[in-house]
Amino acid sequence: YRMGKLSMSEMIIETAEKFRTQNMHPIVFIDDASDVMIEGDRERLAQVLMNLIGNAIKFSPQGGNVTISLKNDFKNLHVTIQDQGIGIPAEDIPKLFSKFQRIDNSSRRKIGGTGLGLAICQEIILKHDGHIWIDSQEGLGTAIHFELPLLAETVEYTAHEGAEENPPVMIVEDDM
Ligand code: ATP
Ligand code: MG
Repeated sequence: YRMGKLSMSEMIIETAEKFRTQNMHPIVFIDDASDVMIEGDRERLAQVLMNLIGNAIKFSPQGGNVTISLKNDFKNLHVTIQDQGIGIPAEDIPKLFSKFQRIDNSSRRKIGGTGLGLAICQEIILKHDGHIWIDSQEGLGTAIHFELPLLAETVEYTAHEGAEENPPVMIVEDDM
């Protein structure tokens, strides 16, 4: 891993742009307090975002919104990728972080993939001392969450600046 200081908000906006098409574009919410640095491997974290945003779009064949939000709880950065797609049956959720696990049912048969994406995402997030988890309801949509520890120096900075007193500013990437 090639670790360096990264802005997760920049990476999210960059990756969301890559998925922008005429019918589907991810909406990004980042408040000021969340625009802080983390320590990570840029290429590998980009791979995580590509797979998670790619999944959200791929498993939303009827469309709907894909929303990516970034929150800072002054200890961790918390990224949520939420879709309004086909969702995941509760009993399948725990299996999906293992390699080659896909769900094979009629609503999914036409959607391609190897089943490696989430296993790789989890490996990368764990290597960054983070966590990743899934919250989903079949037929309603899925939220994938991951958390990464903030750089110690950023935690101090945000604490001193009293970011909690400042109301968060919302950037909505929704200009199409
Ligand atoms: P790959 O990422 O290797 O191209 P894949 O997308 O099928 O293939 P994963 O990203 O590991 O594999 O996802 C595993 C399975 O989890 C998927 O096949 C799908 O059944 C389910 N899944 C993942 N993300 C979502 C989502 N956002 N909505 C619904 N199902 C999902
Ligand atoms: Mg995938």
